[in-house]
Amino acid sequence: MTLWLLGTHLDRTADYLDEHDRVLLIESTAFAERRPYHPHKLTLVFAAMRRFREDLRHRGVTVDYRRAETFGDALDDHFEAHPEDDLTMPRPAAHGAADRLRELVDGRGGRLSFVPNPTFLLTPDEFDGWAERRETSDSATYRLEDFYRWMRRRSGVLMDGDSPEAGDWNYDEQNRETPPDDWEPPAPPLFEPDETTREVASWVDSAFETFVGVDEAAPFRWPVTREQSLEALERFVDARFAEFGPYQDAMLEGEWAMSHSLLSASINLGLLRPTEVIERAERAYEAGDASINSVEGFVRQVLGWREFMRHVYRRSMPAMADANQLGQTEALPPAYWTGETEMTCLSEAVGHVRKRGYAHHIERLMVLSNFALVYGADPDELNEWFHQGFVDAFHWVTTPNVVGMGSFATDALSSKPYASSGSYVNRMSDYCSSCPYAVSRDTGEGACPFNSLYWTFLREHEETLRGTGRMGLMYSHVDDKNEDEWAALEERAETVRQMARNGTL
Ligand code: SF4
Repeated sequence: MTLWLLGTHLDRTADYLDEHDRVLLIESTAFAERRPYHPHKLTLVFAAMRRFREDLRHRGVTVDYRRAETFGDALDDHFEAHPEDDLTMPRPAAHGAADRLRELVDGRGGRLSFVPNPTFLLTPDEFDGWAERRETSDSATYRLEDFYRWMRRRSGVLMDGDSPEAGDWNYDEQNRETPPDDWEPPAPPLFEPDETTREVASWVDSAFETFVGVDEAAPFRWPVTREQSLEALERFVDARFAEFGPYQDAMLEGEWAMSHSLLSASINLGLLRPTEVIERAERAYEAGDASINSVEGFVRQVLGWREFMRHVYRRSMPAMADANQLGQTEALPPAYWTGETEMTCLSEAVGHVRKRGYAHHIERLMVLSNFALVYGADPDELNEWFHQGFVDAFHWVTTPNVVGMGSFATDALSSKPYASSGSYVNRMSDYCSSCPYAVSRDTGEGACPFNSLYWTFLREHEETLRGTGRMGLMYSHVDDKNEDEWAALEERAETVRQMARNGTL
């Protein structure tokens, strides 16, 4: 009996580790060749797998660590050594992965069965039970708020009897502040690469085509072990949690981390369990180390949004990956790969991704996705870009977040697009003050590119969007514009598109 673990199953605390004769880990170069991932992503996954192998061996677990071109090649070797072996694996989250892996094992005379994946709080049956009990006229659409309240009640997290802790389910109103001019976020932790990580980084550099060259990226800094991930959690709670809530939507030039937790990659690889992260957040609240708006905002991401994404994706695939209800077909502007643009907001956000494989959630949603949305970019291409560029990206993560929420290519999980003009960026950042474009102007040379794209986007998709019920205010502004104003907006939007296409924006 062998436990087969993927690079997203690195949970050293899982019960099933002691129930098998050996653990099989496969380091597949075909995975790294599938797309030009960020070098930090490949370094993180492979270094974490190798360190996990050492951890298990220290505990006396027998580990077969196989380096091969493909999973199939490694399984050939495995079944030669252990004919007709029974394999067990935590259920993978990627659509179709369970069937593909089972076929590989069946074809070699073995059997593969799946157990619940401890990197998620809910099993598929538990989520499906919630989904089927809902009173909804459209069973293919899901809303976070209902799910999140159900999760809070079910888990008792931040609950005071039947009521939400401190009285409200949501403290977003308190979480839209921007920091004062003299504010400096505490430095995020930097985990110096050890010999294993350095060796992997150098192999990644020489063996694979990557999102950016290693020389263009910042020094690698991500936690690759459970100890480092636990330290990252403590450092977040100690130094940044109190300000996470109020500044969670804020952006500052030169500040890539702000007060964000930076824990998503550790959680997605299994180095941290969502349960322990949530419990730590609750303890910080009880100890008075973080206010309810910080703690609730954080808990909503892990207990609510992450689980919601994983299961809405599962139930909406394969259609979700190809969804494009707005019919958007523009290629992503070259600035997404080069970072070369005069737009301060886009240059900052793309620069953060290029350097560290990371940008925080408001840059992801309100700069990177928002610009692609109002520009008319193909949602599938944007999804692919996120999947390549981010250290915490996996298909189950990016598809609902990028295709569903960011691109509004399906209404499976939101009833309106997250589209905005430059005024949102101006309100939540200091980017506009150093930008050569004028956020106050919609038309003419030098006008903020977001503005004309936003208005023409609303007009072009009026038929789909006006009736969604939550766009009334925006369409009242659309209705106020006369034909001369529309002509100037269309002209500016076309100029912006041309500049974006030829890399001169
Ligand atoms: Fe971005 Fe427009 Fe502000 Fe420049 S002016 S930073 S392009 S929102």
